[in-house]
Amino acid sequence: MSRFFSNKYDSLDAYVPGEQPKDCQYVKLNTNESPFPPAPAVLEAVRGEAEKLHLYSDPECKALVEKLAETYGLKPTQVLPTNGSDEILNFAFMAFCDREHPIVFPDISYGFYSVFAKLNGVPYETIPLKEDFSIDHREYVGIGKNIVIANPNAPTGLCLSLKQVEEIVASNPHNVVIIDEAYVDFGGESAVKLIDKYDNLLVTQTFSKSRNLAGARLGMGFACESLIADLNTIKYSTNPYNVNRMTMAAGIAMLESTEYFEKNLAEICRVREYTAAELRKMGFTALDSKTNFLFVRSEEIDGEKLYAELKKRGVLVRHFTAERIAQFNRVTIGTKEQMDVFLEKTREILKEQKQ
Ligand code: PMP
Repeated sequence: MSRFFSNKYDSLDAYVPGEQPKDCQYVKLNTNESPFPPAPAVLEAVRGEAEKLHLYSDPECKALVEKLAETYGLKPTQVLPTNGSDEILNFAFMAFCDREHPIVFPDISYGFYSVFAKLNGVPYETIPLKEDFSIDHREYVGIGKNIVIANPNAPTGLCLSLKQVEEIVASNPHNVVIIDEAYVDFGGESAVKLIDKYDNLLVTQTFSKSRNLAGARLGMGFACESLIADLNTIKYSTNPYNVNRMTMAAGIAMLESTEYFEKNLAEICRVREYTAAELRKMGFTALDSKTNFLFVRSEEIDGEKLYAELKKRGVLVRHFTAERIAQFNRVTIGTKEQMDVFLEKTREILKEQKQ
């Protein structure tokens, strides 16, 4: 740290992204990317835009906003695309949270929430998940504070029902409720359909997981017009050209590639169920995931040890050190072939463990 770093960041621990190793060809199951490349139409669209990179991108993202609005059955004024969904989440903390408007979220959830809170000087509280790692939605009903919940939650993969989400939103009319739907396409129930009904609901989604564009950095927020207008004020006060030309074109092309999108989704869900079943045969506990990852533990091997042994064998998964989940690993669903390598190495490790 330099002697110039502002002391307003004294308590800030920056978010630590999953490893992106360059040294060897890992079977990479640690950052919940799609194992499949973008649709062919994306490559073509990006090439066309590359020729125009000497010109700024459209700050209004008009073409993309219209396509998103059409896809999700909303008005263009209810949509805001951003540089990954991390950006819209940060915008929301900046726009709606402060000392008088603290925020609450589950104790086990996306690690960036506490980082955004600290970055923006926002007091926060965490609410423990239940023993079975599900969110007790009653804890949030009428809580009278801003709320952010990942639904499905990460890294557990478990979902709240739409009815439970609606109860939370309806019972906190004077607070903003952010539902982070990064993984919703893999089996959750989206709250987008509640947007016309509640002016305190912000739903965030991303192209990074189900739409194969993690490297393009594209996310979006859906909310009533006035919330989107506030978020736009933050956007125009930080980075008006937050979505670059190639990403915008990639996003539109991906939204148009419906068949490709649906085929990939179905395959990931199929391979998820296959992998979970195989792991359970080996004695693992695998939570009932509605995402593109599994959260798993075995009584036979320490969580961190399994992570390290898999890494030695060229398979990268994500391990978190927080005490409550230290025995678990989060395993992204890759191709069937990648999961077979993961399963084989896991069998090998468990066998060695017993010897
Ligand atoms: N929310 C959750 C729950 C996530 O796991 C992630 C991925 N790390 C994000 C948001 C942000 O994803 P992105 O910025 O790539 O859209």
